Amino acid sequence: MAGAGKIVILTGAGASAESGLGTFRDAGGLWQKYDLAKVATPEGFARNPALVHDFYNARRANALAAVPNAAHRALARLQADWSDKVVLVTQNIDALHERAGSHTVLHMHGEIERALCAACGHRWQAPAEMRPADPCPACGAPATRPDVVWFGEIPYHMEEIYGHLAGCTLFVALGTSGSVWPAAGFVAEARAAGAETLELNLEPSDVSRAFHRRRYGPASEVVPAWVTEVLGEG
Ligand code: NAD
Repeated sequence: MAGAGKIVILTGAGASAESGLGTFRDAGGLWQKYDLAKVATPEGFARNPALVHDFYNARRANALAAVPNAAHRALARLQADWSDKVVLVTQNIDALHERAGSHTVLHMHGEIERALCAACGHRWQAPAEMRPADPCPACGAPATRPDVVWFGEIPYHMEEIYGHLAGCTLFVALGTSGSVWPAAGFVAEARAAGAETLELNLEPSDVSRAFHRRRYGPASEVVPAWVTEVLGEG
């Protein structure tokens, strides 16, 4: 692969599953105990901010306790070796890519360790526990929320991401079900731009047929194996 062009890698909940952070579909997981419409929408937050903070406080505690797995570490190694060629886009709100050593990560669905003021747009490091009455450190309004993108909101960095997709030669999707848009459409964008496409997942995703190539297995195994090949170390 030496001499290859830009690689865009999209990661989803499956990348963090082996770090103990449940995916949407995990039986008995956090996501199944709560109604998504109540905890992951602006309407749900307006109706019951305490419930939404409880949900994200629990997720923040889980995310802070989790450690990166071999998939995060392999992607960090690839990014370190090929820094200007590898663009990491994640739907995950945990910071496991960064804690594995990745320096630039586009968090399209926000970050659980950040807080956002719904009144003035100020952002800051979230405390471990957030509550509805917490005042914004910039404007004082009791309108603080987790800096995560809810259903019905526009994901972050979209212009930059579409620019990278239009200019990549390889698009890789890792650990994502292909059920949440707009990320599910990235493979079609990359193909339209002439890129090769590869799906790495535990099982075929909802959009698996859109990929040129597919490899299935746990992220901690398929990702290090793929990175070794890309770096020509195999
Ligand atoms: P998803 O739960 O819909 O899909 C996860 C995918 O990962 C599935 O296709 C599953 O087969 C695969 N998978 C499970 N374990 C795996 C493993 N060990 N190795 C490889 N693949 C594995 O999640 P999604 O596609 O990321 O999208 C849904 C939304 O869920 C996103 O908005 C995301 O923000 C949110 N989410 C994030 C986290 C997190 O931040 N860690 C956790 C759960 C959900």
